[in-house]
Amino acid sequence: MSEFTLDLNDDQRQLRDWLHGFAADVVRPAAAEWDEREETPWPVIQEAAKLGIYSLDFYAQQYFDPTGLGIPMVMEELFWGDAGIALSIVGTGLAAVGVLANGTDEQIGTWVPQMYGDPDDVKLAAFCSSEPDAGSDVAAMRTRAVYDEATDEWVLNGTKTWVTNGGIANVHVVVAVVDPELGPKGHASFIVPPGTPGLRQGQKFKKHGIRASHTAEVVLEDVRVPGHCLLGGKEKLDERLARARERAAERAGGGERVKNAAMATFEASRPAVGAMAVGTARAAYEVALDYARTRSQFGRPIIDNQGIAFQLADMRTGIDAARLLVWRASWMAATSKPFTAAEGSMSKLYASETAKRVTAQAVQILGGNGFTREYPVERMHRDAAIYTIFEGTSEIQRLVIARTLSGVPIR
Ligand SMILES: Cc1cc2nc3c(=O)[nH]c(=O)nc-3n(C[C@H](O)[C@H](O)[C@H](O)COP(=O)(O)OP(=O)(O)OC[C@H]3O[C@@H](n4cnc5c(N)ncnc54)[C@H](O)[C@@H]3O)c2cc1C
Repeated sequence: MSEFTLDLNDDQRQLRDWLHGFAADVVRPAAAEWDEREETPWPVIQEAAKLGIYSLDFYAQQYFDPTGLGIPMVMEELFWGDAGIALSIVGTGLAAVGVLANGTDEQIGTWVPQMYGDPDDVKLAAFCSSEPDAGSDVAAMRTRAVYDEATDEWVLNGTKTWVTNGGIANVHVVVAVVDPELGPKGHASFIVPPGTPGLRQGQKFKKHGIRASHTAEVVLEDVRVPGHCLLGGKEKLDERLARARERAAERAGGGERVKNAAMATFEASRPAVGAMAVGTARAAYEVALDYARTRSQFGRPIIDNQGIAFQLADMRTGIDAARLLVWRASWMAATSKPFTAAEGSMSKLYASETAKRVTAQAVQILGGNGFTREYPVERMHRDAAIYTIFEGTSEIQRLVIARTLSGVPIR
């Protein structure tokens, strides 16, 4: 088991520097253009694929890094380059993890490669869980999956919203209700293969930030997928539902409350979002530091004023603290430590709030220039707003942390 250390090994340092080069030379120069175009930056994804940064192998290697630091380093560097483009590059990973976590070996081998395609023909994937009336409240999900025994097919109906790569993905992973009585335990995930009739993109959202990442509704009308598209398979689902029904009956009879396995999965995945936030915050801080050194007012650089210098000190302190929380939680996930204080949620909460604060300070330090699209902090400030919203809002992270610490079902 890997001990926690802040000393990166040679491989990790090389990886970080290589990714930083890609972020600086390819991603950052393209950021303003794709933000204005509000379109998926296909040529940049293709470039990433050619270099091996957009591939299953690359992410699997980082995912299984025994120190846990592979994924946070990738996220920090790519999102340092640009958040919208980086999300277009790593968005497929959300769906891939859904299959890696719940799929059989055969399903992983069949579908995950189709999510990425190859460097000459790159593909995307989408993970469809949120719905118009089921955002934070996942239990309110309405999309139904009904089994048609005669044809061994599942029939999906419903509307998903806020889906990254929704409608333009090659493979969609859709979470749906198979037993409405069981709340989230009655949910299951399905692969919707490329070109399946009945799945279409609804409205594409025009967003405040991360505009190079495509976000849209996904409408499912009598979408029929073969039985083998149920992730994990029918036998496993039936066993899981039977267990959930037993436990529900025990609880109704005053039995012990069972821990939700999905919560453990979120604790392990949330630090990755924290790392994205650290990347954006660091990028804005660097621009602000540089600007404060070179911009003069009243006959001296603005950094000579404590009012500016102390802000920069606070910004950097917050970023370093956020990274430490992210690395701790990532290491805990990789070494299977129990998240007894919801450390994964803590890292996401702190890093995302830090990114919002730091990017706002950066805009202020750049004055009028910070408010224009001539300088990147305006975009970074818009981009940073997403981190306190997706993968569980800050309020939901606080709920999770408070419930974990207290054992009280705080509302
Ligand atoms: C750009 C973008 C990309 C996304 N990508 C995906 C994707 O790929 N796949 C996917 O499935 N989803 C995706 N989402 C959805 C995202 O996860 C949801 O937006 C998020 O979970 C919040 O849900 P909501 O927007 O419905 O807000 P709501 O749940 O309606 O929340 C509104 C406000 O109420 C607060 N609130 C809600 N409940 C409580 C409570 N109990 N206590 C205190 N405060 C509360 C929230 O914190 C928030 O401030 C994406 C969203 C965006 C904006």
